[in-house]
Amino acid sequence: MQFIDTHIHLQDYKRKCATDIVAAAQAAGVEKMVCAAVREQDWERLAGFARDFPGKVLPAFGLHPWFVAERKDGWEERLETFLLRFPQALVGEAGLDRIRDENAEPQNLIFRRHAELAVKYRRPLIVHAVRAQSWLENCWSDMPAKFVLHSYSGKKELLKQAVKRGGYISFSPSVLKYADCRELVGAVPAERLLLETDGPFRGDENIASDAVPQLACRLAAMLSLEPEEFSARVYQNSLEFITPW
Ligand SMILES: [Zn+2]
Repeated sequence: MQFIDTHIHLQDYKRKCATDIVAAAQAAGVEKMVCAAVREQDWERLAGFARDFPGKVLPAFGLHPWFVAERKDGWEERLETFLLRFPQALVGEAGLDRIRDENAEPQNLIFRRHAELAVKYRRPLIVHAVRAQSWLENCWSDMPAKFVLHSYSGKKELLKQAVKRGGYISFSPSVLKYADCRELVGAVPAERLLLETDGPFRGDENIASDAVPQLACRLAAMLSLEPEEFSARVYQNSLEFITPW
């Protein structure tokens, strides 16, 4: 079975080198990973990963809502330069996080700029949204053709709205801890579901290299599906998601 980890922060591993992580993931069947930036200082490192692991590590360039205050003048032009340098790069992660900062601005403004660039350059957008339901409901019309609500932990109703607007829903292993896990995962149409490790920015650096394959097996069992069939579907979705249009 083949897998794509649609969200990892390779640049945040302190004790392991990227070469080992990528090799271990490959051995576990994870043939590609989307490496998401959170700060501008990540961008050049991600460019290095994309160069060192062609076809295996896809960079996503953006500013995570936790770090928008660190942005420096001209960040948008520099982000644009990275998108032009890497035609396969995604945009993100970007969004709104009301646990970290309850003020919508400037998070909202920064997110909108990411969405505009994703539309302009026809790139998938990785959205981080926490306690941001009403905000998201005002964003649908500005989303590019492909976007994902990553490491989804919101309500079922919001997920359905996102899907209706063409969005993908991605789950990380943390979904297994939710009381409504089965219901939440079951609410995503088969062709819109993605999987990710989300490691290690908010998580554990020791996350297993086969975390995505393991998650696929657990979720397939939960949904009474064959793991091969479920994994093949998710792999196809992931390929469709990461492809610029
Ligand atoms: Zn992330």
